[in-house]
Amino acid sequence: MSGAEPQEKKSLILVVEDDTSIRELVKEALEHFQFAVVEARNGAEGVAAFTAHKPEIVLMDVRMPVMDGFEATAALRRIPAAATTPILILTGLDDTDSIRRAYEAGATDFASKPVNLFVLGHRVRYMLRAKHALDDLRGSEARLASAQRIARLGNWERQIKSGRMQWSAEMFRIFGVDPKTFKPELRTYLDLLHPQDRELVARATGDAVRREGPYSFDARILVSEGVVRHVHEQAEVVFDDNGTALRLEGTTQDITERKQIEDQIRFLAYYDGLTRLPNRALFVERLNQSLAGAQRQGRTLAMLFLDLDRFKRINDTLGHTLGDRLLQAVSERLKKCLRSTDTIARGDPLASSDSVARLGGDEFIVTISDIARGEDAARIARRIIESMAEPFMLDDHEVFVTGSIGISLFPHDGADVETLLKNADSAMYHAKDAGRGNYQFYNKSMNASAFQRLALENAMRKALERGEFMLHYQPQVDVTTGAIFGAEALIRWKHPDLGMVAPADFIPLAEESGLILPIGEWVVRAASAQGKAWQDAGHGPLIVAVNLSGRQFRQQQLVHTVDDALKETGFDPRCLELEITESVLVQNVEDAIASLKRLRAMGPRVSIDDFGTGYSSLTYLKRFPIDTLKIDQSFTRDIGTDPGDAAITAAIIAMAEGLKMAVIAEGVETEEQRDCLLDRRCRLMQGYLFSKPVPAEQFKVLLEKQAAGHKIGAQTKPRRRAAR
Ligand code: C2E
Ligand code: MG
Ligand code: MG
Repeated sequence: MSGAEPQEKKSLILVVEDDTSIRELVKEALEHFQFAVVEARNGAEGVAAFTAHKPEIVLMDVRMPVMDGFEATAALRRIPAAATTPILILTGLDDTDSIRRAYEAGATDFASKPVNLFVLGHRVRYMLRAKHALDDLRGSEARLASAQRIARLGNWERQIKSGRMQWSAEMFRIFGVDPKTFKPELRTYLDLLHPQDRELVARATGDAVRREGPYSFDARILVSEGVVRHVHEQAEVVFDDNGTALRLEGTTQDITERKQIEDQIRFLAYYDGLTRLPNRALFVERLNQSLAGAQRQGRTLAMLFLDLDRFKRINDTLGHTLGDRLLQAVSERLKKCLRSTDTIARGDPLASSDSVARLGGDEFIVTISDIARGEDAARIARRIIESMAEPFMLDDHEVFVTGSIGISLFPHDGADVETLLKNADSAMYHAKDAGRGNYQFYNKSMNASAFQRLALENAMRKALERGEFMLHYQPQVDVTTGAIFGAEALIRWKHPDLGMVAPADFIPLAEESGLILPIGEWVVRAASAQGKAWQDAGHGPLIVAVNLSGRQFRQQQLVHTVDDALKETGFDPRCLELEITESVLVQNVEDAIASLKRLRAMGPRVSIDDFGTGYSSLTYLKRFPIDTLKIDQSFTRDIGTDPGDAAITAAIIAMAEGLKMAVIAEGVETEEQRDCLLDRRCRLMQGYLFSKPVPAEQFKVLLEKQAAGHKIGAQTKPRRRAAR
């Protein structure tokens, strides 16, 4: 016998055989082939010997006492270490049934007795070689799997045509699905992705096929309710010889942790850890963007630099922990008071609370990206200062803190972040010098005008509570009869120091600050109550006209406000007239038409005030549901001297007539004007010629005179052409 190869370490073979002579022969033959041999005399001994010696191959007889070969093979397969060990059954029973039973029990192969010892030696050697190759393969597969598990990287294939997929074990783990029940294919895979990222896959695949190149993208997967995982997918397309795309081969890696770390790094780099507000770096970055936008759109931007007063003392007396807590509480208040934007004139410039940043220490910065004028910034500064007025509760300590604010405006006080910051900072020091707990503009002149406006705004707020507003009434006259048919209510403010303030001096500010809403509500109520009182006093169906400002008119609440006022006062809705200036109506025609319809549906009449100044086109005019046109004073003024104005006035009157609207001429001061208007068939008028706006008691005197037969401002000489 030959063929023995030198071996470093002899492979161990277990021979399980009850027949001593056969066992000896086999042993000898195997030893000749340079194998080491362990012997066992029956199945039970064989199982024990396996556990004790871990042989590489088992030769197993079938018929043995105690435990036969089938049973012993089955028992070995249950031992994990023997799961892949080749078992060669040596049997004299070469009927098919025994062969089947041998394989069922887990045998690798079988050989019939009598054994050809030479062939057996070779056979064992080849079995051993196959086993080693298989072990290597299993080892590298296991290493690959564990490498994939460590890297959280799965690999897969996808058939382009059918969409069917093959996944490695790690894929199932990444996607959180059970390999026993989940069938990977394009559709089920897409279902696992975040809905917003599904399209990405189709696009990437399509691109890759077209370019014949690899692709990669990051996507999100929904692992469970609210839990998102991030994956990085990379793949290549495999084509056949004709260039048809067959399948994709790719990998998917779970990069959730990396993403989280990136977020964390971003947070650390851009946010303040204590207050979670943006830090200086993010603030500068964002402000640079805002400045570019403001520059392009010609907007004014304000920067408020807030520094807490005497913060160092708080830190020293209460300790740093409470000092930190105070800074957190201050930043919360700042955010909160910037969120409630109701009193800011132009919409909602502070929608994002990210416009607050902490520069460091006790310094905060607020940017407002769109303000109408400096006063808006002052208003916010004041609100911030007021928000600090309430004590902060830190543990059991009631801590009082004030802040000083410096304001700089773009573009007036600087064109770049640095200059704006420097100037806001220096203004902040002025605020500290001026006694702390206040604000200062960098530009000194702003302080005065902002102060005036804010003082006026404050006074106006109080005026409502203190009943300083009153209404004057101006009669509206039908000059053909001299009868007073209506009264326009005009607001007056009896200021304790300034005396009577004209509406032109406070209505615009009331509009901006939003105070016009409560004021306007008061006007509608007071005028309706007055109208009702006159009616009750027997002065007939007098029309009372009330002016509505733009902001009031655009407010959704208006219909209810008017309705409530009418119900509460019991004033006949048909006697109330709402005056809206033409310029307000043309700002948003469709909305205006809808609002007018809603108002009129409740009963009141509607008139266009200051008509002729707002450039409304004829097309609009036809569509506005309007009862009355009020010709603006400017046309009346020059009607006798300026042929142009006279012509326009005549045209307005004719047009209103055609549209079945009434026409009232405003600002009639002279008889000449009156007669001119009358000549052009306008008979309803209002103006100093008849009466100035007067308090209600005086108006009542006018009404009483009229009842006694007195004609107010009626035409004195007969005219050739009388109006309707
Ligand atoms: P308007 O509604 O066009 O009111 C007419 C203005 O012309 C009133 O000024 C009135 O006093 C004045 N006027 C009347 N006749 C003559 C005249 O013959 N010659 C001249 N030169 N002026 C005359 P007033 O009361 O100062 O009101 C000014 C504006 O303020 C009003 O213009 C109206 O737009 C607004 N306004 C007045 N009261 C209210 C109110 O309660 N709410 C709102 N939103 N606006 C009001
Ligand atoms: Mg008016
Ligand atoms: Mg007017």
